[in-house]
Parts: sequence; C-alpha cells; structure tokens
Amino acid sequence: MKGIIHIHSEYSHDGKVSLENIKRHTIDAGYSFACITEHVEDLRGDKLNRFIDECEKLSDDKFLFIPGVEFSYSFSHVLVLGVGKNLSYDYENWPETLKSFKNKYLMILAHPYKARTKIVPEIVDLVDGIEVWNSKYNGKNVPSFTAFQLFQKTKLNRNELLAFAGLDFHKYSHFGGPFVSVVSQELDAKAILQNLKDGEFKIYSRGVSINPTHNKLPLPVLFESMFFAILMPALLFLNKFLSKIGFNVPLKEKIRNRI
Ligand SMILES: [Zn+2]
Ligand SMILES: [Zn+2]
Repeated sequence: MKGIIHIHSEYSHDGKVSLENIKRHTIDAGYSFACITEHVEDLRGDKLNRFIDECEKLSDDKFLFIPGVEFSYSFSHVLVLGVGKNLSYDYENWPETLKSFKNKYLMILAHPYKARTKIVPEIVDLVDGIEVWNSKYNGKNVPSFTAFQLFQKTKLNRNELLAFAGLDFHKYSHFGGPFVSVVSQELDAKAILQNLKDGEFKIYSRGVSINPTHNKLPLPVLFESMFFAILMPALLFLNKFLSKIGFNVPLKEKIRNRI
C-alpha cells in the first residue's frame, strides 16, 4: 500500500490546494493514502473538527486521508500523525504537550535543516523518527546528507529511531517527491500508522529505495546526497561572488530548486 507523508491543504495558511484536489492528484499518482499535516496554529476553534470531518468524508474504500498536524516549537517542527477531534494541547507548554503525545501518536521531526530551524535535543529524544528526506527543504532527489547524519548520530543511542521522507506539499509543483510503501494491505489508518511506527515500510522515489530502520544509505544514494551537500552550496557561493563583481548569473533559484 503506497502513500505520501507531510501534506498541507488549504486548512494551512500557506497551503494552496483543497483536500478534494489533493485526493484526486494522489489517486492519479497511484497512491492509496495521504498523511495530512496541517499547521496546528491554523486549526483553532472548530477548524480542527471541520478538518477531521472532511478527511473522513473524502476517505472511502479506495483512498484514505490520515489526519495529522505540524507543531512548531523553538524553530523545531514536529509532525504528529493520527490525530482526532480530541487532540488536546497547551500552547504555552510545547515540551509537556509533545511528551503527552508519546506512544499516542506518531511523531516525526520535520526538515531538521531548513533555514533557521533549531535542533532541540529534548524533542529529538521524543520523536519516533526524523524526516531525513523532505523534498521541499532537505533533499530534492535523495535524502539530505546533514539530516541523515543527525539520524545516524541519534540512532546510536536510540536504535528504534526511524528515517522518514515527506513532501512538505503546499502546491501542485510539490508533487513527485518520495513516497512510502507500507506492509499493510488494509486501507486502515490504525494498521498503516502501526506499520509506520514499527518501521514496516520502505521509502521510494525515482529508482531510489531506502530502508527506514537502517543507519546507512545505499552507496549510490549516499554519494548523490554528499554531492548535493558539497557542490550546491559551493555553486551558490560562486553565484554570490559573481554577482558581487558584477556578473549577474540567474542560477540562484535554479540551484536552490535542485538541492
Ligand atoms: Zn515545517
Ligand atoms: Zn510542513
């Protein structure tokens, strides 16, 4: 059963696509489920209930929306999957809130190396996994080298830690990133979330396959992620230098889009 993780719909202030259209595109791409992760601050009042209701209404025997939210704490973002209308949290006390989620929901540290994000050790200790591959911010074609290093380092002390991949989808151009394939043949949120929590899934994208329980990347994938980690910042630096001495090379955006 194939699906995608880390999706924002119009329920998030920066999401551009409705749940209905996300469903259509996800089915067209051959996936059976989508884990939606709306910014929790955008679901105040009765919006959380409306979001959960719409996820349920649009789910059927061929497609499933798994509702979730994205918390931000001290520039650290955490995806919380499998939430319902009873989600309770304290805006004033994120660490306690996240602690209360442990073993209740699936928690993933999102895009650890997006600009300005901060690695908060107490949060890294709480999550079930790290989004080593975020096709919007951390690794366009392969997992991010630095995010994977954080995963490897943390896994030394927490062997159960898993690697995850997400799209951070906000608009149509964000489709086409990594997807997951879970063991379950049942289109059921509980079964799929259990697979994700137990590491019974694989990550795929454009011929690349990654086992979320392994602390090593396949060699060709490792080389490609190192290549991007070294070459792209060097090209960005060169581009900046050239523009300083008067050569305006319009490469910046092109390079950014490839990292
Ligand atoms: Zn985020
Ligand atoms: Zn996000």
